[in-house]
Amino acid sequence: MDTIVVKFGGSSVADNEKLNKVARRIIKFYDENYNVVVVVSAQGKTTDKLIKEAEELSLKPDQREMDVLLSVGEQISASKLSILLQCLGYKSISLTGWQAGIHTSEENQSAKIEYIVPDRITKELENRNIVIITGFQGINSKGDITTLGRGGSDTTAVALSAKLKAKQCYIYSDVDGIYTADPNKIPQAKKLKNISYEEMQSLSSEGAKVLHDRCVEIGEKYDVPIITGSTFNNNPGTVISHKMEDTGIKSIVKKDVSRISVVGYGMSSKDEILGKIIEIANQNNLEIFNIDISRTKISIVFKEIVKDEILDEFHKICTGS
Ligand code: ASP
Ligand code: MG
Repeated sequence: MDTIVVKFGGSSVADNEKLNKVARRIIKFYDENYNVVVVVSAQGKTTDKLIKEAEELSLKPDQREMDVLLSVGEQISASKLSILLQCLGYKSISLTGWQAGIHTSEENQSAKIEYIVPDRITKELENRNIVIITGFQGINSKGDITTLGRGGSDTTAVALSAKLKAKQCYIYSDVDGIYTADPNKIPQAKKLKNISYEEMQSLSSEGAKVLHDRCVEIGEKYDVPIITGSTFNNNPGTVISHKMEDTGIKSIVKKDVSRISVVGYGMSSKDEILGKIIEIANQNNLEIFNIDISRTKISIVFKEIVKDEILDEFHKICTGS
């Protein structure tokens, strides 16, 4: 029996009504005689809400505890979906990242999947269970819960597809595919039928918030066809594969970045300041895009928006106050 992996994003599992729609899709695959592995994100804005609440308690919450907190979001969706599928008469079981054998690197908040021990998943599939796995999380060698970085559930789904040699990996969300621009901003944007892994990686890393960029990397490496589609309609989605249909323009994206400048005479000789800035950037997982040094300033362009708390740290080390 072929295995398929089906991933649902946060807006697809946001409430009970939507969970029912998700359950119908899963049941359809199951009734077509597939082994079905489901990966879920946290419901709606749960992750944002949990982050906000933690940041109200502490300016710099401990990263390990943040992973314990954030991993709960996906557990809520997985267990609810399993409760619903069982009520609809189907055999199902929810598994957390560690129960599913997802082993990651050490770092909290941005761990990488290192290997997967799929024994529990395959045992449950052999019993004809629909296996629902919490996205975005795993366990590190210390036995601590880790998370994979925002949007990481896509990566869980594609990594599981690779390990289980799934026939296909479906990524369902509230948009039905990859467009030539963000359809929420550019109404004339057109949906693509196909896109190659390589093109998709460029899109993701340049700020298109469609798929987690690491999932595309894994898809390419292990040859997993990724099919994106909408949970709420049956329009054909976009297939991400090795196929390079044509060499035309695929999409136009905008990314918001932060440029931080330290201004004052003598900057081109201030190596120690630059070193400290890079240290803070590394501690906060900020990726530097470009550094530009002149006599009166050091400017650093980060690949993402830098929060004011981090700006405060830069201010402290640069001015000593
Ligand atoms: N719930 C996590 C997030 O909001 C992971 C995910 O949705 O993929 O970033
Ligand atoms: Mg996502």
